[in-house]
Amino acid sequence: MKIQNYINGEWKEPSTRQFAPVINPATGETIAEVAMSGPNDIDEAVQAAKEAQKRWALVPAPKRAEILYQVGMLLKERKEQLARLLTMEMGKVIEEARGEVQEGIDMAFYMAGEGRRLFGDTTPSELKDKFAMSVRVPVGVVGIITPWNFPIAIATWKSFPAIVAGNAVVWKPAPETPIMAQELARIFEEAGLPPGVFHVVHGDGPTAGNALVEHPDVKVISFTGSNEVGRTIAEKCGRLLKKVSLEMGGKNAVIVMDDADLTLAVDGIIWSAFGTSGQRCTACSRVIVHERVKQELERRLLEAVKTLKIGNGLDETVKVGPVIHEEALQKIDRYVRIGVEEGAKLLVGGCILREGDYARGFYYAPTIFTDVTPNMRIAREEIFGPVVSIISVRSLDEAIAVNNSVDYGLSSAIFTRDVNNVFRAMRDLDTGIVYVNAGTTGAEIHLPFGGTKGTGNGHRDSGVAALDVFTEWRSIYVDFSGKLQRAQIDTGD
Ligand code: NAD
Repeated sequence: MKIQNYINGEWKEPSTRQFAPVINPATGETIAEVAMSGPNDIDEAVQAAKEAQKRWALVPAPKRAEILYQVGMLLKERKEQLARLLTMEMGKVIEEARGEVQEGIDMAFYMAGEGRRLFGDTTPSELKDKFAMSVRVPVGVVGIITPWNFPIAIATWKSFPAIVAGNAVVWKPAPETPIMAQELARIFEEAGLPPGVFHVVHGDGPTAGNALVEHPDVKVISFTGSNEVGRTIAEKCGRLLKKVSLEMGGKNAVIVMDDADLTLAVDGIIWSAFGTSGQRCTACSRVIVHERVKQELERRLLEAVKTLKIGNGLDETVKVGPVIHEEALQKIDRYVRIGVEEGAKLLVGGCILREGDYARGFYYAPTIFTDVTPNMRIAREEIFGPVVSIISVRSLDEAIAVNNSVDYGLSSAIFTRDVNNVFRAMRDLDTGIVYVNAGTTGAEIHLPFGGTKGTGNGHRDSGVAALDVFTEWRSIYVDFSGKLQRAQIDTGD
């Protein structure tokens, strides 16, 4: 299968004529080839988007939303087929792939509802016979850049609000996972989206991604990916005075207090540390445990890890799939060596799996370190693999301080039965998302998604908050007094 660009409603060969292999991480097999586009392809898409957007913005928002509703119906109809493709290109286990497609379905219906809201404000004027309101207006052409770990969900979090708000979208997906992008473009087309409103241009970051970031007609960049790349994009957008929304990495922690339900805590930790093989921005990579329950928690975690079946995610009984590629395996393994050198104690895992069926794919053993201290690199840096570090503390205050001591601020969780602990955690954990008695993953699409500090730059995906990225506020004053009324002066004081 050759995956082409989708520009102005047509499937097009990249101007470079270059393609790269797409590899199934569970088997190491090449399952497709993807276009590796150059700046010309980005420019072609942006020019078409610019033209189409002018017409699209004039379509009433409830009509725009009807197309999104159709998109939701098609995603629903094809959920199983899409989930299987997603597992093949990205590796996550089939149950999680179904969950990811469901996020897209939920987002389609939620944003279709926004077509009949897109609320602004009406507010009194300080002057007589004058009316004041603010309305959301589209920004124009939106550039979307996404990572491989959620190949369809993240694109829906960004493109659906952008499109319902009247923008046109040019999307550069991660080159590792182009199949979902192709499927989403097909669905948009079948749902009746006019050509030119949604484009997919495949390619690598430094070439195609950068061309999108630097294109003068792209008014907003919505990026999800690593902190390193996000920073360079923000710098470029800063110079161009371009709006940029960044959703980046995490170093998320689960806090387990001494009064916690440990069975529940273990379930929450295992799910959020090893789901998607730890390759979620919200993955639990630190467990901050009260010293009184540390030993018991470790014993139970070890028991639980031993039951995890590792393998090809298409097998329904598998709980942990592969990681994305060999480079990721090597990076994870390097961090594990660093952990050992730093003096952390390896409880389980800590190795690449190469035996038997594992030989062809990219598998890492679920790994738990204990006796980790908050300043170790494995406790501070994003590893993005199935590796979790246990840090022992003596109080809730210390737990919160350790949670907040890292450069990231995406997600955190606390297991406790004490309502006072709960409310202090809700107030003091410095992350964009806080869970109580659940792991660090599990966001729902109608709440804002994003984080503080090195995780983001103040914007949010999902929820109504996403609309702020893709719209400008226009304040409108209508004076029906028939005379000049000067604000702040002719107020009759
Ligand atoms: P990445 O930063 O390497 O790549 C992300 C995207 O940016 C890809 O499409 C890539 O091609 C593109 N890119 C790379 N260099 C670029 C450049 N110079 N200019 C423009 N685009 C460029 O990230 P990844 O490895 O694909 O994904 C993993 C990262 O994503 C992790 O750090 C993870 O935490 C993060 N992530 C964050 C969230 C969130 O919402 N906070 C969600 C999922 C993943």
